[in-house]
Amino acid sequence: MPRRPPKDAAELIPERPSLASVRAAAKDCQACDLWARGTQTVFGEGRRRAELMFVGEQPGDSEDLEGRPFVGPAGKLLDRVLEEVGIDRDAVYVTNVVKHFKWEPRGKRRIHKKPNASEIAACRPWLDAEIELVKPRAIVCLGATAAQALLGRQFRLTAHRGDFIPSSLAPLLTATVHPSSILRAPDDETRRRERAAFAADLQRVAEALRGRR
Ligand code: SF4
Repeated sequence: MPRRPPKDAAELIPERPSLASVRAAAKDCQACDLWARGTQTVFGEGRRRAELMFVGEQPGDSEDLEGRPFVGPAGKLLDRVLEEVGIDRDAVYVTNVVKHFKWEPRGKRRIHKKPNASEIAACRPWLDAEIELVKPRAIVCLGATAAQALLGRQFRLTAHRGDFIPSSLAPLLTATVHPSSILRAPDDETRRRERAAFAADLQRVAEALRGRR
């Protein structure tokens, strides 16, 4: 009988990890039940030693099918805003706190479902390994789920959005909204305002990185 992968993601991480070997190991992860729901593990992507890392909640529908993070509509919005604020998209690392797409059916569509605390905890070794290997100078949490995973359940995005929070994870760590929330804005005016606020948050990150060079 084939051996079942360990239930703890940390046990799958190679002894001398590299981004490539950790990514390969994550393909077989069954540390929470989401492996059976998503098409595949969607591991982070980007340069080793990228100075800036974005951490979102989980892959979406497009990401699940393509097997790559931030390739759907929210990722494309992120790309455009990065370009506007002068951050080289090819120089950043993008990932999520949970590496499988959690969804529920609605008609023919797969609707995003928020991961729970135990799924986030089960997936954490992969994110920790990415942070350890990339060693970014700045981490930007995209959305409340990512922010609370990295900064604690008590963190309130509404109160501390855009603040730089002291953390052992990176010299600079901040949180802003997830670009998908901008796409879900109820009207054009709100969307325009939210997009401008998001760009301002990323502009501050770009300036902080330049200031630390
Ligand atoms: S969501 Fe994370 S912990 Fe759960 S099976 Fe996928 S990779 Fe493993």
